[in-house]
Amino acid sequence: MKISWRILLLWTLPALVIGFFVWQGAFSAGVPNMSQNTASTRMSYGRFLEYLDADRITSVDLFEGGRTAIVQATDPELDNRVQRLRVDLPGNAPELISRLREENVNFDIHPPSTNGAIWGLLGNLIFPVLLIVGLFFLFRRSNNLPGGPGQAMNFGKSRARFSMEAKTGVMFDDVAGIEEAKEELQEVVTFLKKPERFTAVGARIPKGVLLVGPPGTGKTLLAKAIAGEAGVPFFSISGSEFVEMFVGVGASRVRDLFKKAKENAPCIIFIDEIDAVGRQRGAGIGGGNDEREQTLNQLLTEMDGFEGNTGIIIIAATNRPDVLDSALLRPGRFDRQVTVDSPDIKGRLEILNVHARNKKLADEISLEAIARRTPGFTGADLANLLNEAAILTARRRKEAMTMVEIDDAIDRVIAGMEGTPLVDSKSKRLIAYHEVGHALVGTLLKEHDPVQKVTLIPRGQAQGLTWFMPMEEQGLITKSQLMARITGALGGRAAEQVIFGDAEVTTGAGNDLQQVTGMARQMVTRFGMSDLGPLSLETQQGEVFLGRDWMTRSEYSEEIASRIDAQVRAIVEHCYQKACQMMRDNRAVIDRLVDLLIEKESIDGDEFRQLVAEYAEVPEKERYVPII
Ligand code: ADP
Ligand code: MG
Ligand code: ZN
Repeated sequence: MKISWRILLLWTLPALVIGFFVWQGAFSAGVPNMSQNTASTRMSYGRFLEYLDADRITSVDLFEGGRTAIVQATDPELDNRVQRLRVDLPGNAPELISRLREENVNFDIHPPSTNGAIWGLLGNLIFPVLLIVGLFFLFRRSNNLPGGPGQAMNFGKSRARFSMEAKTGVMFDDVAGIEEAKEELQEVVTFLKKPERFTAVGARIPKGVLLVGPPGTGKTLLAKAIAGEAGVPFFSISGSEFVEMFVGVGASRVRDLFKKAKENAPCIIFIDEIDAVGRQRGAGIGGGNDEREQTLNQLLTEMDGFEGNTGIIIIAATNRPDVLDSALLRPGRFDRQVTVDSPDIKGRLEILNVHARNKKLADEISLEAIARRTPGFTGADLANLLNEAAILTARRRKEAMTMVEIDDAIDRVIAGMEGTPLVDSKSKRLIAYHEVGHALVGTLLKEHDPVQKVTLIPRGQAQGLTWFMPMEEQGLITKSQLMARITGALGGRAAEQVIFGDAEVTTGAGNDLQQVTGMARQMVTRFGMSDLGPLSLETQQGEVFLGRDWMTRSEYSEEIASRIDAQVRAIVEHCYQKACQMMRDNRAVIDRLVDLLIEKESIDGDEFRQLVAEYAEVPEKERYVPII
């Protein structure tokens, strides 16, 4: 519906413009229809007065309330032939009329013909009206951009932007894998259901709970579950919706929201992305933002303005607690912070169980194996994964989802869409050697995660891929594991160089090298794993704190900087030499693996290991401990 409006508008606007000129031509009327009067010639007002003095005017017909006249004049030079002429009058009809009376000229005043007038009016109005309608829809379209021009139209009206759900229908059972957070919030449900239990002993019920965690971990879901469990309405608004182009609009939205909430207490107010409005005031590049500060002040005022036991609990979510204004975090406001982290392997299994409830799974499916293959996935990622797999199942017209669909879905979520297989060529061979290089190092090094499969089917940006199976939930990673990873990541380039020579190495290793450098640098600067000793020289990179200090401090001297570089280079060089040596030592099996890979497009981990074992010793890797 919305889309069709847009298309319609796109076409109607130019059409309207063209239409305007056409209509203007036809109807700009109100002027007498000249074709009836055949007076196509004009006469100036001065000439008209002259003619009047000279008694050459025989009759005058006034139109348009005296602004136009059609006059009949006789022309002595042409045998007194009667001419009909049109005169534009400067207005002031009364004077003219008395003048005509004096001169005894026959005159008539024509009221505008209603028909013509209506058409004239319509003709003049239709364009502005259509234009306004068109603009209205255009503005409506851009309305969902905060601060977009749409807001300009409703300035001061403060349209309610929050949404209210009387019943969320979400229960704690639907939220899995974040047990600590759930336990903490269980209490909030009791606050809402049985506040007397707390007030009786003089306890003040907390007003605000701040949920902190990365996107997709279930913060919104958790807030809805609290409302669902307590059976109270759920008001939600996103922090970015407070931030408006005009000063004061955000603040009035806050007022509206709290007013509505008070009418519906007990209830939950959920403010998503509170960092959009709750940033440290008076900080950031480009100075403060008046509007945001006013909104934040209003929020603080509203939070102070109601007593603890009115039954309103405010839950806010953010993934940037570090930038929040300290006033928001003091007791009496968001004094409780609950961390919602990415789930561990056990959590992932539980989340998978929740989302598998309404799906048809084949018996062979092991949710545990999925949980194992998906380190770093959040609840939202897992939900999405199962959904992708379900779509694939339907597309393949299967009764129930099998492990094949799951594997495809994981590959797809991690690495992107599958491309068409490469045609046999020199570059396909080169890619095969590159991937086998990665996989061989991964298989031969004891500390490296085992190979899950090697494939030449392109996916996303990658032309070939080697998948590894994470060995265990990696909380702590040892130095030898990191070294093994670096060596493995260099395996691709090492194979290219050893087999094809210096001149033939490709750009395909660019991504590998980036990862390698990153890992090696962190070993030196963050984990104290180099000859520089146990020093932390850099904090985690990649975050720009616009909220507070945005200056980057370098925590070391120039001299240390060059020593860091030297250490990083030493680590990478060491690993690269090792990888190259492995390629030289195993040339025979590499050639066989490459032939097999080009023939089959994919080799799975077990087959790969078996083949390698015919030529070299494959170390036994740690086996998984079952989760439950
Ligand atoms: P956030 O608000 O933290 O960004 P959401 O609560 O919006 O994340 O999560 C998005 C979706 O992901 C949810 O609707 C749910 O389907 C799924 N999901 C996320 N976390 C969980 C979880 N812990 N348990 C079950 N499902 C989850
Ligand atoms: Mg959310
Ligand atoms: Zn590679």
